[in-house]
Amino acid sequence: MNDLPNGFTGFAGVDREGFESAADAIRRQHEERPAAEPAVHGSFQYARDLDSGRRVETELPFDVDKIDDIPPLDQRWAWVEIDLSAIRHNVAETRRFLKPRCRMTAVVKADAYGHGAVEVSKAALGAGADRLAVATVPEAVELRKAGITVPILILAQPPITSIPLLLGYHIIPTVYEPDFAVAYGEAADLHGVKAPYHLAVNTGMNRIGVRFDQVVEFLHQVSFHRALELEGVFTHYATADSPETLDFNIQANRFVDAVNAIQAAGFEPGIVHSANSASIYRYPDVHFDMVRLGVSLYGLHPCPETRNLVNLRPAMSVHARITDTRLVPMSEGVSYGLHYRSPGSVKICTVPVGYADGLRRGLSSNTDFIMGGRYFRQVGNICMDQCMFEVDMRSYGTRERIDPQVGDEVIIVGSQGIAEVTLDEMADKLGTIHYELACGFGIRMKRIYV
Ligand SMILES: *Cc1c(COP(=O)(O)O)cnc(C)c1O
Repeated sequence: MNDLPNGFTGFAGVDREGFESAADAIRRQHEERPAAEPAVHGSFQYARDLDSGRRVETELPFDVDKIDDIPPLDQRWAWVEIDLSAIRHNVAETRRFLKPRCRMTAVVKADAYGHGAVEVSKAALGAGADRLAVATVPEAVELRKAGITVPILILAQPPITSIPLLLGYHIIPTVYEPDFAVAYGEAADLHGVKAPYHLAVNTGMNRIGVRFDQVVEFLHQVSFHRALELEGVFTHYATADSPETLDFNIQANRFVDAVNAIQAAGFEPGIVHSANSASIYRYPDVHFDMVRLGVSLYGLHPCPETRNLVNLRPAMSVHARITDTRLVPMSEGVSYGLHYRSPGSVKICTVPVGYADGLRRGLSSNTDFIMGGRYFRQVGNICMDQCMFEVDMRSYGTRERIDPQVGDEVIIVGSQGIAEVTLDEMADKLGTIHYELACGFGIRMKRIYV
């Protein structure tokens, strides 16, 4: 074989001659293999016809009508647990901060921050939330299709082309452009229905809304339309979670001025609201007629300042089972890049969770897993679908030796005994916020409600 590099003498244990004859043998076997029957639907043709969905004659030792009933946790050894009693607890705890007539909107955008919008909405409404808010029209339609009938607010102005969905599913949009308002009003009028909306006021965040000193002008521009109905006026704070309070107070004062101006001009502002989670606990003065409970519905503190104010319970935990274990000889590497090197006497365990599941790659070798109430170091780069952790096999002091096996359960986010790994600390390590991590864990893994 002339194309082997100079000096190549074969792999360890296989001399150059042996290597060549092995390659030849493989080639010969391949050529001698009879041509395969052309497969119609791959191996599934034996279980269920993929076009008709009908079961077809099979010798397989299982009932093809039952295979879809195999529980999710038996299909994949990685899952997210959502504790709905924690959701209910957080609603009740938050309710204690509100005056009796103050309404509570549960913010369930982004699939309830990764927790599952339909299940969380039902739990929150059952525990005393009055309404729901989402970010997009498809999110609102999903809730309607699940049979939820309470008012649903879209927290931004959707495209004009989505107006039929708003009217058809009774979804309330946020509005701040006259063009949208008029198109929405006209479409409603055409069908003899009302077009309720909430006016977003930009008091300083500069994301969406009519500027605080232009709201009366806006209402004069659109109020000629008889179907349009101002159901609420709201703003959103840029710094409700910051230690400093100056910018927050500027926004709050501008909002109060805007609402007063609306009333002075003879308009009825409807439901006045401004508070997100951080402002609910920190600034009772801005509760007005309704609050919008987002991240704290899920048991997460918006900022360190709220830790002493309210008792919240995180609803999300992330779990997996070990899919592989091995003793890696000293100084051998683990995972892409081989950056982690085994110190010897460690067992490397693999779990089927990776960055495509929300376990961010930036946490590689910088987070702990929990097993049997103890911490274990995640090691090596986190892959797309899997990652590894290290178990010291030596026993020393009073510490009991632990010998993990395939199938053992591991906690990636959550607590067990006194050990705890939180989204908060993961977010700190990554320089991001727990909101983002919760959303990420909700994307691919199956959610189990407990
Ligand atoms: C997302 C959002 C909320 C909820 O904020 P949290 O900080 O999660 O409580 C409230 N209002 C608006 C307009 C939002 O976009």
